[in-house]
Amino acid sequence: MANVLIFADHDGGKVAKTAAELASFAKRGGTPIAVLLTDSSQADSLASQLANTDIESVLAVENSDFAKHGIPALVDALAQVIEAKKPDAVLIPSTARGKEIAGRLAVRINSGIITDAIDVTPDFGTTQSVFGGSFTVSAKVKTGIPVITVRPSSIEASTTSNTPAVEKLNVTVSDKAKLVTISNVQPAVKGGRPELTEAKIVISGGRGTNGDFTQVEAMADLLGAAVGASRAATDAGWYPHTHQVGQTGKTVSPQLYMACGISGAIQHRAGMQTSKNIVAINKDPEAPIFDLADFGVVGDLFAVLPQAREAIQAKRS
Ligand SMILES: Cc1cc2nc3c(=O)[nH]c(=O)nc-3n(C[C@H](O)[C@H](O)[C@H](O)COP(=O)(O)OP(=O)(O)OC[C@H]3O[C@@H](n4cnc5c(N)ncnc54)[C@H](O)[C@@H]3O)c2cc1C
Repeated sequence: MANVLIFADHDGGKVAKTAAELASFAKRGGTPIAVLLTDSSQADSLASQLANTDIESVLAVENSDFAKHGIPALVDALAQVIEAKKPDAVLIPSTARGKEIAGRLAVRINSGIITDAIDVTPDFGTTQSVFGGSFTVSAKVKTGIPVITVRPSSIEASTTSNTPAVEKLNVTVSDKAKLVTISNVQPAVKGGRPELTEAKIVISGGRGTNGDFTQVEAMADLLGAAVGASRAATDAGWYPHTHQVGQTGKTVSPQLYMACGISGAIQHRAGMQTSKNIVAINKDPEAPIFDLADFGVVGDLFAVLPQAREAIQAKRS
């Protein structure tokens, strides 16, 4: 049975949901083993969050150098864990941070790397959606231990009744990985909504909102969704650039993506077209987003969204 290392990323207090998703991919071909790298004595509380997922065991490393020296120190530690445990593959979330870690790690361990996979087979073959989703590529690493980054929300993580065993490991971060010292970190101010790239549901607004995102946000809050925006909306200053979906924004792959007043330009599609279900609300029946949508409503978003909210609330009560 193949051993698959999962990089279980966290923000110091909460483990990212990508860990459980990667484990469900890993489980197809082997034994998912999470690696938790943390700067303080939080390993046990972080590991407890991995209960009832497909993760079978946890390798935990506590080292204060992770906070001081950031990604080079994490990569140094991961390389040492890989050297000690000799896994058959390494899965890492395809976030900006995950891809930086994966790239550096692949160089370090002299392995091939595949980024932005949306599917992983039991023998570590991957599927990627490229060039704005115009092509689907199947690829496999041929050199070394495959290092694969997988887009968040590419799979629905399964739940199993399980408490993974935790093994603590020690690593010594090399002087080379300590060349940069982080002097100050300012955490991003987070609202109450889920993180865009991790959300199961994303409600996005475009130029059609004319700068008024209240209906988009109200729908997001009703469904526990994240809010996204087209570049037209972010460039106009209507919504922060951190919420932009698309080629020059974030890539999302939620269970449900709702595009409100968004035409569906190729650059926008590049960031959302691997979403499992796409709903479009647009008053122009010829809008290209309808070519992509599983369900489309031709209408004014300011009329459609309140009605949709009412209908959802009525169904719930
Ligand atoms: C290099 C490059 C990179 C880019 N990167 C990105 C990117 O990352 N993300 C991105 O989104 N774009 C990106 N763009 C821009 C992209 O080409 C489009 O210009 C942009 O996506 C358009 O945004 P939009 O759909 O909100 O606006 P529009 O294309 O103007 O569409 C607005 C839509 O709203 C509809 N509408 C108007 N009023 C209403 C209403 N009341 N109710 C319902 N519907 C209504 C209209 O019918 C129309 O279809 C990029 C462009 C370039 C050149």
